[in-house]
Amino acid sequence: MRFHLVVAAIASAGFLLVPDGGTLQVIWQVACGWFAAGMVVAGIRQRRPEMPATWWLFALGVFGNASGIVVEWVLTRLDTEPGFPSWADAAYLSLYPAVAIGLVLLIRRRTAHRDWSSLVDATTLTTGMGLLAWVFMVKPAAADPSIGLLGHIVSVAYPVGDIVLLAMTVRLMISGGARNVAFRLVCAALVAFLAGDGAWAVVNQMGWSPGPTAHKLLAEAFLAGYLLFGAAAAHPGMRSLTRAVEPRSGRISRPLLLALTAASLVGPGLLILQAARHRVTDVLSIALGCVALFLLVVTRMAQLIKQLDVQTEKVRELAVTDELTGLPNRRAWNTELPRTIERVRRTGDPLVVAILDIDHFKHFNDAYGHPAGDRLLKEAAAAWQDQLRTADHLARYGGEEFVVLLPGATAAQAREIVDRMRLATPLGQTFSAGIAVWNGGETSDALTDRADKALYEAKNSGRNRIVEAAPVDGLALQRLT
Ligand code: GH3
Ligand code: MG
Ligand code: MG
Repeated sequence: MRFHLVVAAIASAGFLLVPDGGTLQVIWQVACGWFAAGMVVAGIRQRRPEMPATWWLFALGVFGNASGIVVEWVLTRLDTEPGFPSWADAAYLSLYPAVAIGLVLLIRRRTAHRDWSSLVDATTLTTGMGLLAWVFMVKPAAADPSIGLLGHIVSVAYPVGDIVLLAMTVRLMISGGARNVAFRLVCAALVAFLAGDGAWAVVNQMGWSPGPTAHKLLAEAFLAGYLLFGAAAAHPGMRSLTRAVEPRSGRISRPLLLALTAASLVGPGLLILQAARHRVTDVLSIALGCVALFLLVVTRMAQLIKQLDVQTEKVRELAVTDELTGLPNRRAWNTELPRTIERVRRTGDPLVVAILDIDHFKHFNDAYGHPAGDRLLKEAAAAWQDQLRTADHLARYGGEEFVVLLPGATAAQAREIVDRMRLATPLGQTFSAGIAVWNGGETSDALTDRADKALYEAKNSGRNRIVEAAPVDGLALQRLT
């Protein structure tokens, strides 16, 4: 396949040396187009891509477009003036549907999930460019009185084909999927065609009649388009071009943001231009274009806000969750305890806090390894949770220390529940616990502190047991209920 690439490079460079406007130029152009179509067919045969239809359509489009040159040349030979439209236009135009359908198939394969944000971006860019094309290309083409109905249809078909191709190109470029050399070559081919057509549009708009050299330079764009398609098919990456990749997660890169801004400003820009020329001719088209662009921008904004909400929710969730056990973490506990104290202060329910610490966990880690220690923490958390009621709240306080909040439980009930938890600890391990009954007035810190002291007592008195902090009286009786 290297050989084909060398031939392609020589073919496009050599074209510049071919004498201007002669038969050799025509032969060269057609040969390049047919050769490129042949390269694509050879690529399909050799590489067996997952989506051969796309490549057959590319080959057909390139072949048809290049054949248009032959048809035009033959018609010019037979007839002094082939007229417009002619069969050559049918051949030229065949590129648009063929390549566009090929691209639709390709894009559908490459986007595994519905990727609304890149769809909106592509639509915004296309709407902006489409508005430009409408004002400068489609309307003038439709307004030319010297051509018949068929002439109108055909001359409008070119810019419309360009807009469709442009839409597909933008969609291809900003959607997910493999971004290998073959992908870049296909994009380059499309850009070459669009640049060629765009250049012609500018030439026509300005009323220039390009000389033979300018003509040849413009033709070079199409030649490059043909050969880039051929080169894409020759590259091994063409096989994986259909591979889907996760969508871009809705982010907007700086160049894309610039492009979107430019596209959004096309409408007002056109209006200013026409106002400056004192010939405002496209108010309705520009107004409709602006409406579409505004709605697209707002849609994109709504998508971003929704995405932000989802991410904020996720971050909030992560901030209060312990990664290893999936339990609420210390941060969550720090808000949960005061909140519960406030609640039971109103309801008058009892409240118990327990602090658990696995016994000799360091030994366990030393004996079985840190990963086994992690597994124990995880399994213990799940086993303890099973022993609790829905109103209870188990959290990881840090390391191998856990805290339990038991609203509505008396000291005796709390002792019973925590004891069940102790017996449920996996792999024959044990814990020591300190429990403290809220006295009806103390702060969350004071309550936790008492439970912690009780825990130390449990450790010091032999471990694998529950110690209840001595009740602090007085305050409970002062409570207003
Ligand atoms: P004691 O009965 O006095 O509580 O003894 P201990 O070994 O459980 O207590 P110590 O405070 O000496 O050691 C706690 C150990 O817990 C040390 C530390 O490596 C281990 N540890 C803390 N967090 C984790 C963790 O997330 N995973 C694992 N595998 N080990 C942890
Ligand atoms: Mg500890
Ligand atoms: Mg411990």
